[in-house]
Amino acid sequence: MPATAAKTVFDDVETLKRELIRCMKCGNCMSACPIYNVEKKESSVARGKIALGEAILDDKINIDDEILVKLIFNCLVCKSCMMACPSGVRFDRIILGLRAAIARKKGIPFVKKALFGLLKNPELFDKGMKAFAAMQGFFLTKEGEKARAPRGFLRQFGKRFDKDFVLPELSKESFRDRVSEVIDVENSQATAVFFTGCSVNYFYPDVGEDLLFVLRKNKVKSITPKQQNCCGMPVMVHGDIETARELAKKNLDIFEKTAGQYIVTVCGSCGSALKHEYPIILEGTEYEEKAKKWAERVYDISTFLLKVIKFEPPKGKVELKVTYHDSCHLKKSMKVFNEPRQLLKMIPGVTLVEMKKPDACCGSGGSYHLTHADTALKIAKAKVEDIKATGADAVCTGCPACMMELFEGLHRWQGDCKVLHTVNLLAQAYKKEEG
Ligand code: SF4
Ligand code: SF4
Repeated sequence: MPATAAKTVFDDVETLKRELIRCMKCGNCMSACPIYNVEKKESSVARGKIALGEAILDDKINIDDEILVKLIFNCLVCKSCMMACPSGVRFDRIILGLRAAIARKKGIPFVKKALFGLLKNPELFDKGMKAFAAMQGFFLTKEGEKARAPRGFLRQFGKRFDKDFVLPELSKESFRDRVSEVIDVENSQATAVFFTGCSVNYFYPDVGEDLLFVLRKNKVKSITPKQQNCCGMPVMVHGDIETARELAKKNLDIFEKTAGQYIVTVCGSCGSALKHEYPIILEGTEYEEKAKKWAERVYDISTFLLKVIKFEPPKGKVELKVTYHDSCHLKKSMKVFNEPRQLLKMIPGVTLVEMKKPDACCGSGGSYHLTHADTALKIAKAKVEDIKATGADAVCTGCPACMMELFEGLHRWQGDCKVLHTVNLLAQAYKKEEG
């Protein structure tokens, strides 16, 4: 453990136990849980995992048991159960605390450890991603303009890598390489640091470019630090709290060096990490105050446009029927769900049609869709059917990981619908206005 006096739920069994006992076993979380709705097993849902956690921490069952470890990792960390919980149980903290306890006892598996080690070295990670982008044709076939599918020899590495699996093409030039670190504007009304996240940097540079364009149109000076690190969420969900702490500290040091007033994000998970997780994982460390200070300045782009600055709505017309998918971390952690819809309705020509369950999880869950393909596919299929039933031309969302999952699902189940980030549509409307 680093220099920390904190007894967080991620480090200390007694703190974790105090969180566990808040569950009154009412079962309200069952109907909210996407995994329970597919598997119908008590061990799939928060209540069941809390009971397992209690048994582990009371030494009634052995934490080394592989079946037990699998059950604790059978969770999307989507936070849907928390929305339905009358006791306010912080299940997100519990599940990550249990995974951290497993990591402390059993260590992090070799492959994960090597990957997480790469994340701690952004230059090496960047080189690795670019090398993979250059060689992607060896592993992945081209499927249309922007999609790639695994070649046959990759199918043995996971059930999800079947003949219908696709992912967006990796950009040969990363987003942060494409853009200037500082983009000044005349009479700027604010200065925002853009925390890009890894998916935008390597898979969706167009989302990053559109975000900078939208900021420029609204007279906001942007700073996109080149050396920013992964937000840490992908390692936290695997119980590697030490690596998450290291990444958080490096990012905070980078923010401190900028003259930014705010941090804007285009990813619910990154935003949630910076706003809600950093202050907790850094509690009791020399970074606690910095983490709290910057957490208050973190905004999803939709909230930033509507609540922080004076927003200039676009005048260009985009004739499109659009439905909106709520990213779990954006809605259930950042509490952002009205603002993206408000923005979409402000775009001339856009008609917003709601799905039956717009905030149902898409089944991505970071790597969950790869490690738990059977369940994830059923969750994704329900989402795709819901999207298709709206008859929308495009599905918009506020999270690149959801974009990838929706893109894959719509390809797999033949949905004739584009996948866009909200900033893509805003930028389109501003560009139409410019003519
Ligand atoms: S976080 Fe999501 S997947 Fe995990 S138990 Fe709660 S509702 Fe189910
Ligand atoms: S809804 Fe909350 S209190 Fe009820 S069983 Fe689920 S986690 Fe426990």
